[in-house]
Amino acid sequence: MSSAYHHKVKQAINFLKESVLGGELKVTLAFSHQNEDAITISLAKKAGISFSVFTLDTYKLFEESLAYQKEIEKFFGIEIKPFSANNEAIRTLEEKVGEYGIFDSVELRKECCRVRKLVPLKNALSGYDAWISGIRIAQSITRNETKLLEHDKIFHLLKLNPIALFSDADVERYIKENTIPSNSLYAKGFKSIGCQPCSRAIQEGEDIRAGRWWWENPEHKECGLHVKKEIK
Ligand code: SF4
Repeated sequence: MSSAYHHKVKQAINFLKESVLGGELKVTLAFSHQNEDAITISLAKKAGISFSVFTLDTYKLFEESLAYQKEIEKFFGIEIKPFSANNEAIRTLEEKVGEYGIFDSVELRKECCRVRKLVPLKNALSGYDAWISGIRIAQSITRNETKLLEHDKIFHLLKLNPIALFSDADVERYIKENTIPSNSLYAKGFKSIGCQPCSRAIQEGEDIRAGRWWWENPEHKECGLHVKKEIK
């Protein structure tokens, strides 16, 4: 039976097919250990497009996320290539931020994200024409202007957000219907998963992004990967 959910799934698959122009674009997909990323891999496979998959290893990931990464590689028969900051950059960052700096200042927290995520992301996207991301409008106020197709002005390539219009219920339904494995942290109360120091489980009724950088105001809750303004 057709429904809004089926329409969104079909639209996402067609969108991916049409966006890569019959294989002319070189495409990579960001895997960040969450249901949304597994869905975009599944949709891209259904669309029959050619793409690579990368992840950003910040050296601050949960053991559960690293185990999930292996599970997803096996489930889809793919390789997920990790990108990380180099040792020198990590050493300089640690000297500057210390153990608790990310909790004391938004600037230091963003510096940590810049070094551990943004610089490696720039390397991961180098040489590609487009990247696929699993961000959704329903995730937070910082994402309410997300479009299916965007021009990434920070990294200078196309950004494809095939599940931008998916609701939380759509995500759960797609995972269940396609029997895709989930990160075991969801069963422990996590709704949005990132680095270990900056993600926590949430309570019933809390916003799904409430567990990310929970000590900050909602408008600051991005690491810079999905912002539309120049990063200073
Ligand atoms: S999410 Fe937290 S630990 Fe991870 S890079 Fe950003 S500030 Fe650093």
